[in-house]
Amino acid sequence: MLDLLAQPVPYQTIIQHAQLSLTVKRLDLVHPEISGNKFYKLKNNIHFALAEGFKQLLTFGGAFSNHIAATAAAGKLAGLSTIGIIRGEELAQRPFNPTLMQAQANGMQLYFISRHEYKYRADQAYLQTLQQRFPQAYIIPEGGTNSLAVTGCKEILSSQDLENYDVFCCAVGTGGTMSGLIEASSEQHQVLGFPVLKGNFLQAEITQWTNKTHWQLLQDYHFGGYAKTTPALLDFIQHFKKAYSIPLEPIYTAKMLFGLIDLIQKNYFQPHTRILAIHSGGLQGFPLHPESFSENRL
Ligand SMILES: *Cc1c(COP(=O)(O)O)cnc(C)c1O
Repeated sequence: MLDLLAQPVPYQTIIQHAQLSLTVKRLDLVHPEISGNKFYKLKNNIHFALAEGFKQLLTFGGAFSNHIAATAAAGKLAGLSTIGIIRGEELAQRPFNPTLMQAQANGMQLYFISRHEYKYRADQAYLQTLQQRFPQAYIIPEGGTNSLAVTGCKEILSSQDLENYDVFCCAVGTGGTMSGLIEASSEQHQVLGFPVLKGNFLQAEITQWTNKTHWQLLQDYHFGGYAKTTPALLDFIQHFKKAYSIPLEPIYTAKMLFGLIDLIQKNYFQPHTRILAIHSGGLQGFPLHPESFSENRL
């Protein structure tokens, strides 16, 4: 059902010289509301929920979660009602940001819980309690990463992509998307992930989803951590948009492309490497000017 609504995905080559090429695969344009990698992460989950007779989708996220906005939109299209468990009780009292507004406009019921309660989001006993409270709900983890999401993300790479490129790059939050790229490709390729948060836990997360080893995390481009930014990163977004007409946002895609271009400038890649960078979307949180983003909006 969701498959039929996807647009063909455009490619945009932004660097091409004798030494190397860099192409961006514009998943941000795959669907007007369920953009980017979230489309692929949700697709098989929604098919499963429908096949199993669930009536609702229930999931978790922070106020800026693209996964929350995407789940609300996808559920609406699939005829499933949606429930969002949002981190931070205080947010219920404040004006909603664009992500929460979009979720609400698509009919998502939002429950704001304390940061303390939110810590239990993956705890089995807590999930059982939620399941009893919402018996019709199919529960999807925070960020949408589970095994159905990883198989969905394998479809991000077409057979032509596997022939035409040597290196696949993506921004990494939970690692589900990167795991799909790894599973889709093989030893003759390399998959590079750019974590947007600090800490080394992602190595273990990704190993949960794949046994393959042709991948690497580049830990130097998180810019201080999740949703942290710097003037240099915000300048980069502006520059990138002017130069290539490709919008980026500061949480995920700008960090990846900043890192990638930095590595290219430092001659990190072998000559003649053909790089495909996955633009994973996320722009719905920044309808106006991503470059004017500030942390206190979180
Ligand atoms: C969620 C998200 C990611 C991270 O995907 P994971 O599968 O959690 O690693 C990357 N980019 C954007 C724009 C996202 O919304």
